[in-house]
Amino acid sequence: MSTYKVAIVGAGPAGYFTAQAFQKAQKDDLSFSIDMIERLPTPWGLVRSGVAPDHQKIKTVSKVFEKIAKEPNFRLFANVELGKDLSLKDLRDQYDVVVLATGATKGRKLGIPGEELKNSFSAAEFVPWYNAHPDFVDVEIDLSCDTAVVIGAGNVAMDVARILAIDPTALDPTDVAEHALAKLKQGNIRRVIICGRRGPEHAVFTSPELRDLAKLENTDVYIDSQQIEAAITHIEEMDEIEKDLRSNIEAMRAIAEHKKKGMARKLEIKFLSTPIEIKGNGKVEEIVFQINKVENGKVSATNERFSIKTGIVITAIGYDPVEYTGITIKSGRVSNIAGHVEHNVYAVGWAKRGPIGVIGTNKSDSMDVVDLIVKNLKEPKTSEGITSLLKSGHEVIDQTAWGKINASEVFSGEIIGKPRVKEVDRKRLIGLGTAE
Ligand code: NAP
Repeated sequence: MSTYKVAIVGAGPAGYFTAQAFQKAQKDDLSFSIDMIERLPTPWGLVRSGVAPDHQKIKTVSKVFEKIAKEPNFRLFANVELGKDLSLKDLRDQYDVVVLATGATKGRKLGIPGEELKNSFSAAEFVPWYNAHPDFVDVEIDLSCDTAVVIGAGNVAMDVARILAIDPTALDPTDVAEHALAKLKQGNIRRVIICGRRGPEHAVFTSPELRDLAKLENTDVYIDSQQIEAAITHIEEMDEIEKDLRSNIEAMRAIAEHKKKGMARKLEIKFLSTPIEIKGNGKVEEIVFQINKVENGKVSATNERFSIKTGIVITAIGYDPVEYTGITIKSGRVSNIAGHVEHNVYAVGWAKRGPIGVIGTNKSDSMDVVDLIVKNLKEPKTSEGITSLLKSGHEVIDQTAWGKINASEVFSGEIIGKPRVKEVDRKRLIGLGTAE
């Protein structure tokens, strides 16, 4: 029987599905001892700090993660940071296989004048802020203005816009960060405008998310019917129309035609608008766009411009992976071939693919990478693994400690009718986990 030591770095969906794939790949003569390493004191990655709080159902996948974690060959080492507490070289030397499931957490920049003004944010700051990520509690967000602009025509832009546009009391029965809920309730935002640079036919929203928009109770959602009709004309000219595209356009047409209820809260989706400058005296006051057009399937700029008076701009235009010594980032992902990075190092999830795909995408993707890993296995090492790498006294949050944090958060939530109340302070999180 050969037992291989595997280090999975990152306790998000890709990390857990990789652990599951290793568990499933075990045979009579092959087994894996899996150590999951996570820099935060809490696991679950984007399920905890990315998925929007009004999408609680998506978070039930955490039950699958906990089942994987309860298998005897799985150990959690949270509050252990790659690049700080241990290096990639350390892991490579001590483990038979190292899998980077470190995601993509750096928000991409527009690179336009004014982007650095106060109250111009990336979704990479705004989303973890409302989701109680300990590193983003202190982001200073001013919601005192009437109008917010969100850049990007993807699901993150939609999440951000929805959180700003809905009546915040709808978030009362969720696990939204308490500081964010208080700010949203005090805020004055009544109009949120999502701006995509290409047409509705190029938008990367997904249909279920679009269809949910039409169901918002206290927010009217607007899309210009003329932009949808033009998109329909363009797609009818295509040789083949993908099912998803047709479904998206139908969902957008339904929103455009949906009778408005005269709500004070408005969410608008505007297409063919490229941001070119954010203006303001010390803080965001206005954003200027160039209007684009679609001709023969190609998007190009016109000479026309328009601007929106706004006090806050949030860009949701994709992410890049964090760099670690020993790996190269290329084209928005860790340089890899089918998941193989170099020697015994592999990548999965957004680190492997770039920031594309929903939680479920990671399941089959991780299985493919684990298949490749199993094919490449050599003789197992006789090393100590992580115990030889961490300084003595390092406060590791293991599965038992995480269990205590989890139980405490869920208990705090139950009293007030929420799924959980997330603790946002690192020290207090560690304290909850290590308390007797
Ligand atoms: P995304 O789906 O790649 O969307 C990024 C958007 O930003 C695109 O519309 C893109 O437009 C635009 N963009 C890029 N660079 C730009 C620039 N310089 N100026 C203006 N616009 C620019 O990325 P995402 O929204 O971050 O989502 C990442 C992944 O997570 C996606 O697969 C998404 O479906 C998934 N996700 C899923 C859910 C859910 O299932 N509920 C929720 C959140 C995220 P172009 O197309 O013109 O480049």
